[in-house]
Amino acid sequence: MTMRTYHITGDLPYYVISCGACGDAFSCYDDSCYQRDTLANRAVLAGWSVEPHRCPGCGTGTQRQLAAAYSA
Ligand SMILES: [Zn+2]
Repeated sequence: MTMRTYHITGDLPYYVISCGACGDAFSCYDDSCYQRDTLANRAVLAGWSVEPHRCPGCGTGTQRQLAAAYSA
């Protein structure tokens, strides 16, 4: 599983998605990172593939086109 949960003392747990191929990490520094689904959606908008987790550099062309369509 490449979606990790981090716990910071005094703060809510937050999520980070990491690429299964190169280990690059995607996170948001606003409320998005506190909810798995929201963070996954943000990652897809940024060109990430979520199943399996792949960064834009390692993802497929199809995923990138989808991301472009979502953000258009
Ligand atoms: Zn990657």
